[in-house]
Amino acid sequence: MSATEKPAVPSARRRRCPICGRPPATEFRPFCSARCADIDLGRWFGEAYRIPADEDDLAGDLGEDAG
Ligand SMILES: [Zn+2]
Repeated sequence: MSATEKPAVPSARRRRCPICGRPPATEFRPFCSARCADIDLGRWFGEAYRIPADEDDLAGDLGEDAG
C-alpha cells in the first residue's frame, strides 16, 4: 500500500458563514455577506442587551422589526 495520505487541510480555513452556512466572502469573513455579519452583530447586542431571564416572559413582548 502506498502512503497516500491526504494533505492536512486546515479546517479553520474552510469555515462557512456561521449564519447561513454559505462560503464566506473575503470582504465579510467569516460571514458571506454584510447582512449575515449584521445578523451576528445583532445577536451579540441582543444578548448583551437583555438580561438572561425567563424568555417565556419576554418573548411575548418582543416586537420584531423585520424590514
Ligand atoms: Zn451568510
